[in-house]
Amino acid sequence: MRWFVSDFRMFRLLAAAEPKRVCVQILASCLRYAYGAVYALVFFRYLINALESGAPLLSTAAFFVLFSLLGLLDAGLNAYLRDELLPSSDERLRAWLLERLCEKTSGGGIAPYENPKTLDERARAAETAREGALEFLGTAADFCALLLGLGWSLGFACAVEPRVMLPVLLALSLSLFGQRARSQSLFALQRDLASPARRADVAAGTFFGRAYAKELRLSRVGECLRALYDRALRDQQSAVKAHATRAAALGALAEMGVECLLYVLVYLLVCHRYLAHRAFGLGDLTSLFGATVNLIYFSHALLAAYASLRRQGLSFSAFHGVLESQPDLADGGAPCAFAREIRFEGVGFSYGDKPVLKNLNLRLQKGERVALVGLNGCGKTTLVKLLLRLYDPTEGRILMDGRDIRDFDLRAYRAMFAAVFQDFQLYALTVEENVSLGEEGAARRAGEALRLAGLALDPSRELTREFDPDGLVLSGGQAQRIAAARILASDAPIAVLDEPSSALDPLAERDAYETLLRACAGRTLLLISHRLSSVRDVDRVLYLEEGRVLEQGSHQELMRLGGRYAALYNQQAEAYRKEVCAHEEP
Ligand code: ADP
Repeated sequence: MRWFVSDFRMFRLLAAAEPKRVCVQILASCLRYAYGAVYALVFFRYLINALESGAPLLSTAAFFVLFSLLGLLDAGLNAYLRDELLPSSDERLRAWLLERLCEKTSGGGIAPYENPKTLDERARAAETAREGALEFLGTAADFCALLLGLGWSLGFACAVEPRVMLPVLLALSLSLFGQRARSQSLFALQRDLASPARRADVAAGTFFGRAYAKELRLSRVGECLRALYDRALRDQQSAVKAHATRAAALGALAEMGVECLLYVLVYLLVCHRYLAHRAFGLGDLTSLFGATVNLIYFSHALLAAYASLRRQGLSFSAFHGVLESQPDLADGGAPCAFAREIRFEGVGFSYGDKPVLKNLNLRLQKGERVALVGLNGCGKTTLVKLLLRLYDPTEGRILMDGRDIRDFDLRAYRAMFAAVFQDFQLYALTVEENVSLGEEGAARRAGEALRLAGLALDPSRELTREFDPDGLVLSGGQAQRIAAARILASDAPIAVLDEPSSALDPLAERDAYETLLRACAGRTLLLISHRLSSVRDVDRVLYLEEGRVLEQGSHQELMRLGGRYAALYNQQAEAYRKEVCAHEEP
């Protein structure tokens, strides 16, 4: 019954979102099937009986008019539904369902993006929102109408000849059994297709993605992606082979059951009752044949709809699962302000079973400028992600003004930070939106921020040529200045810069750092840099090694200490001198 509960919940959701569409769709379906059934059962019976009994012309004409009006209503309602209501309602429902999913998945932290099972579940849920739910509404409306149609045909046939009940029930039970098994196979197929379908989508998306266009042309990575795509396709084929043949065989069996039993048994029975016993008149006989055809049609359609509802119900589990999922990070809800300090107390963090930070203690005071340095992979970015609550520590705690940051309202806490990452993104939106990132206050300050960041760009111009052929395409240095403008426009009290200029050459990097540091003036700053010369002017440098703070102090103090930081600094200075000499020699 799990599928039924799932279907019912989906129906309630959709009916609450679009009540008019749901009602009209059910009504139109009922009318469409009812009209067909009435035509087959009542129309000819009435006509033959009227001719046989010599009924008055007026009542026959009234019957025709009534029947035509019903036909007109059926055609009108179905045309309105198909051509007017569905096209707009479909898009609204899709958007509404996708919004529910986005609300659920865009909060919390970033750990779910590293779990393939969660990603598969989200892909299936999104498919439900895009197509499955709409298909379900159609099936549910048809199911109601078919149930009515079957009941009406059965009721009619039984009223004339009750013995037909037996073969009908026999055929329906047999078919129900076949369709149940078939829907299970179809669900298994859908489930097993989710992962290879997502792999194929990712591979195909990479082929079409702007970000990959250069490397695809300059390397053979396209062949690797092609192989990834082919493997996904092979896995899809195996899934189809494993489930689809069984589903098709069961479907055929179910249909044969209905046809053989209904046609043969009901026709034999009806003919026998008419010829041997004259149990009913010629009009009734015609209608009984019509009812049999209807019974077969409605049974087939009803059982197919039942199989779809079962399969859809089972696959909605992914959608409901996402809606019910608990965020990977709890939202404490307390209001948040930054007055004094942030403190890491015995913080430890592991990615799965891989420890990255161990018993880390540090303090960041309001207004202080702190640089985080260390060799690649020592855990600098991880520390920043913990600070921004993209993950929670696996041990210890992080405190803001003495209170665990898990207590705070997540959005309000994150709003304390203006962060620029190494891989910061530019969006196919206007320059102003790229600077404000949707914050109203920042949007008002975007023009001034652009000017201070040294960018003479019209804030209303669109970035990238994704949608606008005249869109602006920025150089690396200009993109960097957009990042600086983001910090300038934001009024967050803490700035976090994670290697924001690592993609630039040394001169451009120095320039970018100056712009960024100017942007951070007067704020608390946490800066990650692999180039130690650019962190000389901060108040305090933290040197991280193997997930711990190994040395800390001002640049001068650490140089006097002559430890790991000093060794790394001297090594970089030497390499830089050589690089400069190599440039100057020719
Ligand atoms: P840094 O910024 O100092 O270069 P990171 O914090 O990015 O170092 O990474 C620290 C370690 O954690 C590295 O060994 C890296 O491979 C690993 N790591 C980083 N991100 C993830 C992740 N999402 N899943 C698993 N391991 C990760």
